[in-house]
Amino acid sequence: MAEKKTKYVYFFGSGKAEGTAQMKELLGGKGANLADMTSIGLPVPPGFTISTEACAYYSSHEGAYPQGLREQVLENLAKLETLMGAKLGDNENPLLVSVRSGAAQSMPGMMDTILNLGLNPTSVKALIAKTNNERFAWDSYRRFMQMFGDVVMGVPHHEFESALQDVKDSKGKSLDTELDSKDLQEVIARYQRLYKRYTGEEFPVDPIDQLFKSINAVFKSWNNERANKYRQMNDIRGLLGTAVNIQSMVFGNMGDTSGTGVAFTRDPSTGENQFYGEYLMNAQGEDVVAGIRTPEPIETLRAVNADVYDQLVGIRSILEKHYKDMQDIEFTIQEGKLYMLQTRNGKRTIFSWLRSQVEMVEEGLIDKETAIARVPAGEFGKLFAPILDAKYIRDNGLNEVTRGLNASPGGACGQIYFTADKAEEMAALGKDVILVRAETSPEDIGGMAVAKGVVTCRGGMTSHAAVVARGMGCPCVSGAGDIHINEAKKTLEVNGTNLSEGDYMSIDGFTGAVYGTKIPVRSSEIVQVLNGHMKESESNLFYNYKTFMAYVQEVKRLGVYTNADTPHDTEMAVAFGAEGIGLCRTEHMFFGGNRIMSIRKMILANNLIAREKALSELLPMQRGDFEAIFLALEGRPATIRLLDPPLHEFLPNDHTSRHELALQMGLTVEEVAQKSSALHEFNPMLGFRGCRLAIIYPEILRMQVRAIIEAAINVKRKGVDVLPEIMIPLVGNYKEFVFCKKHALEVIEKIFNEQGMKVHYKIGTMIEVPRAAITADEIAREAEFFSFGTNDLTQMTCGFSRDDAASFLGPYVNDTDKQFYDYDPFATIDIDGVGKLVDMAAKLGRSTNPEIKLGICGEHGGDPKTIAFCDKVGLDYVSCSPFRVPIARLAAAQASIAAKKAK
Ligand code: PEP
Ligand code: MG
Repeated sequence: MAEKKTKYVYFFGSGKAEGTAQMKELLGGKGANLADMTSIGLPVPPGFTISTEACAYYSSHEGAYPQGLREQVLENLAKLETLMGAKLGDNENPLLVSVRSGAAQSMPGMMDTILNLGLNPTSVKALIAKTNNERFAWDSYRRFMQMFGDVVMGVPHHEFESALQDVKDSKGKSLDTELDSKDLQEVIARYQRLYKRYTGEEFPVDPIDQLFKSINAVFKSWNNERANKYRQMNDIRGLLGTAVNIQSMVFGNMGDTSGTGVAFTRDPSTGENQFYGEYLMNAQGEDVVAGIRTPEPIETLRAVNADVYDQLVGIRSILEKHYKDMQDIEFTIQEGKLYMLQTRNGKRTIFSWLRSQVEMVEEGLIDKETAIARVPAGEFGKLFAPILDAKYIRDNGLNEVTRGLNASPGGACGQIYFTADKAEEMAALGKDVILVRAETSPEDIGGMAVAKGVVTCRGGMTSHAAVVARGMGCPCVSGAGDIHINEAKKTLEVNGTNLSEGDYMSIDGFTGAVYGTKIPVRSSEIVQVLNGHMKESESNLFYNYKTFMAYVQEVKRLGVYTNADTPHDTEMAVAFGAEGIGLCRTEHMFFGGNRIMSIRKMILANNLIAREKALSELLPMQRGDFEAIFLALEGRPATIRLLDPPLHEFLPNDHTSRHELALQMGLTVEEVAQKSSALHEFNPMLGFRGCRLAIIYPEILRMQVRAIIEAAINVKRKGVDVLPEIMIPLVGNYKEFVFCKKHALEVIEKIFNEQGMKVHYKIGTMIEVPRAAITADEIAREAEFFSFGTNDLTQMTCGFSRDDAASFLGPYVNDTDKQFYDYDPFATIDIDGVGKLVDMAAKLGRSTNPEIKLGICGEHGGDPKTIAFCDKVGLDYVSCSPFRVPIARLAAAQASIAAKKAK
């Protein structure tokens, strides 16, 4: 039987396509949607897509093709030629094609594109004859040479730009469009020389040769540095490679009735339900995206060509109904006829995500679960990002120096730098940086990633700067054309204001305003409403947030608690939707006011009586703190952890403080220093800390338990419910827990008798020591809850110091030859190692105590990937810092939806 041939090439054209929208893994997002748009009858220029499998083969076989690929490309090319009635690069009736990359997940601008392929010195003449447009044909040829030279053969882009500039200068012309056919032929002659100088070869004339070289270049671009960096930054993993789309060319640069544009079916910045886009007449795609000419807003297209505009508006609604999400489209108008070149789900700001999804639910386009599943939890925190202080601007009569486009929202203030490298250097020194560039290119992403804000002088809402900054959640003002940068002098001039490198600038990415001065940035609207500084009715953002969080609340299973140690943090967390406190680190309460003195006295005490005296000073302070926290919680549970850190952390290191302490305690400075050094440990994280403190000094535990229970009774007397949960840290052996619990129970019984009143309470432990996880069944016989302290559990399981691992963990995670861990194990739980212990401990715990309450309170509790894991292993709640509570709620809801789908 003949072996079944692998299909690597998929054709689309004339209303029929071999691919479908579901084939994104194989055909890339662009290829799958070109096929899909063709099938639903939209005007798509015909072509074919080479699968990502072919790219994967090419990458893993040193640039060799899989068997049959070349033949399939040629067969599909022949099919395309027949359909178009033209032949690639023909001397009489030439077909020209574009060659574009397109992976399963979009990576805008990261990989390569070649347009107008098929031109050579003879086919260009045929194109002139066919189109009767000499200038257009020569312009297409020079663009092709430039793209092919740069992308395929690595001739530096700026060399082409400077050759073009030389010709413009010599002709006294400033715009590309002013060059006539003769000028363009001169440019081409220069390009030919340039190409030969760099490659040692003549520019290829054989169209098939051009085609395969271009296909190879696209395959190779999958592994170029910027594509790798982009995938790393955006956590894009597990893809085979890029597909290659070969499509018959349509021309936006055929004169004034032609043009090209990009549009979003809703506003990518705010999410507003309005058609939003830009176009340029007499231009090709790269002119819009590269930000070389500033494009026109889409509404003005109606005046240029009402039919095309109406057709586009119709397509906008067809696409939204078809894909049920906001689309990002590319189109070209060739001599008054519209063609669709791409559609994909639009990248957008988190503000736009929120609004578009809430409105789509309200419009009946999608259901709530779809909305929840789509909004990126990793981005959600940006909703609470700061904005420029409007009152400060008003009060100080500050005026903007200029206004560009509001390309990416958020307020930012920092010192200006003009190159990405300098921005990275200064950010590493801890400075807040605003990166100011004429325009940005993919090489600048490192600088953009560290910048507080980005400003460009050229380019529109879809320029590289705008797209990338939005993706990063970095405030950006683009196309601020009044800014003139002098790169050599490291200065800029804008409407009479001069600024130098290092001067302050503030930008408002919501409006596009630029200020040549320092302006404080303050809380987001949501935070202001929650704090009572703004009326709910004044904020549309708050409405969307509140509506969306109501959907989230309906769906999620996991509880979301917070790590908080002050009433203020507790109130903020409750406003964000926290359902309790999962970790109150009591030691944080010891640093305020003169409490530190009392704890120091306790540490320095030489006997029980002196220690109890110091503890009795602390008791009312702790009790007061707990009362305030219980009040803020209004009946929600509060897990309060007993003293955890090694005691030396509370003693002063500097001479003045030691002196002061010695005076207060009637000791000598030497005695204080001596005690400090006696407490010194080589491995404090594995030393005298956690429950070990309570075991050696039970009076500390007894004071803290008394403070908790008395506070609870006092608050209950005020008519407010309380649910204290006393948590013993760093237990490794159930006997440690039993010892501590016995002391706690004694104190509690005593207080109940003293007060003649009881409260509900729980006593449980943290699981932070691997031994505790391994023997969780024994501990669970005694404990009413476990809270996984995954910071210490990670430290002790992986053997990585929490405080010192940064020097090697970066490379462990990021270096392409290492990647031993998928993510920083202190940020995202190491599922295969630490996660296995958590899963095991949860099962063991439930095996002896089916009622046991299980949660996580390490830093991982606010990380969406960890939250998905916690949902899967059946924990009851996660606990995280107040500002991560909404993120955790969303991630918990997404986990529930994923779990439902998996069933
Ligand atoms: C932990 O170890 O995960 C934890 C929450 O405790 P801490 O960070 O205070 O050690
Ligand atoms: Mg810990």
